[in-house]
Amino acid sequence: MNGSFSVTVDLEDWYHIPSVCGSPYAIYRDVNEFFEKWGGKYDFLTEPTKKVLDLLDEFNVTATFFVVADTVEHYPGLVESIVERGHELACHGLSHACKIDPETKKQLMSKDEFEKRTLLAKKILEKISGEKIVGYRAPNALVGGWMLDSLERVGFKYDSSVSLNSLYNKTDSALRTVSSIPYYPVENGLETGIDRNFIEFPWPYYQNVLKIPSCGGPILRFLGASLVLNGLIQSLKRGHTIFYFHPLDISCAKFPSIGNQRPFYWCLKGKLVEKRIRYILKKLEDIDKICLRDYPGV
Ligand SMILES: [Zn+2]
Repeated sequence: MNGSFSVTVDLEDWYHIPSVCGSPYAIYRDVNEFFEKWGGKYDFLTEPTKKVLDLLDEFNVTATFFVVADTVEHYPGLVESIVERGHELACHGLSHACKIDPETKKQLMSKDEFEKRTLLAKKILEKISGEKIVGYRAPNALVGGWMLDSLERVGFKYDSSVSLNSLYNKTDSALRTVSSIPYYPVENGLETGIDRNFIEFPWPYYQNVLKIPSCGGPILRFLGASLVLNGLIQSLKRGHTIFYFHPLDISCAKFPSIGNQRPFYWCLKGKLVEKRIRYILKKLEDIDKICLRDYPGV
């Protein structure tokens, strides 16, 4: 294996998923409307995030947390506790709204609005971390080339959202020239370009006939540890790659059932997934891990 890898964690709660908030088919238009109308318990994030921080300490990993910026307001002290443990904060949107339509890939907000919201999220996170926030991951991995140009314009140095997947492309590009290794994207697109002050860190994938993403999150929950591990090992042979999961993936709580268009979405999580993450980190214990903010060129 030639590459190093970066461990990344997406910090969001159950109501940030597109069937509940922030997508064309959501129950609530956005997180603001959710907080106006929802009367029940909302915090299913704090408890598993503490577990994730302990797990990262156990494996001596400095990770990048892609944080939905509105968590700073709704979970006092939580994002601060991530900074205190030395991890990098990066941006996962202001409130996890989709920027492109999941089906048509058409823009759901103007460039101006995207830049304004993302800059606000960046500032919220910079206030907490005391450091420049330079990384971004698109909510739901729905990413368009125009977004990367905007991110560069408002001061980001990298994005990590592009995922090769033979069954379902979540981007607005064909990704013909992309693999799992970091690259400079062309302007207004996601294909590989030439030297630029902005890097894309695509996700790992396992390739046989098809290319199957082999990160954490839903893949880790549904397809298990060996596919993810084999995809990571294959991707490490190509070069640097990333690994990701959510604190929600290891939560043992039962989430509220509203927005349950996908009733099986959360049925596999908790201890089982925590075991899978441990297994993968253990198997890759000897591989160099690099926090994305320290990657050459960032
Ligand atoms: Zn997310």
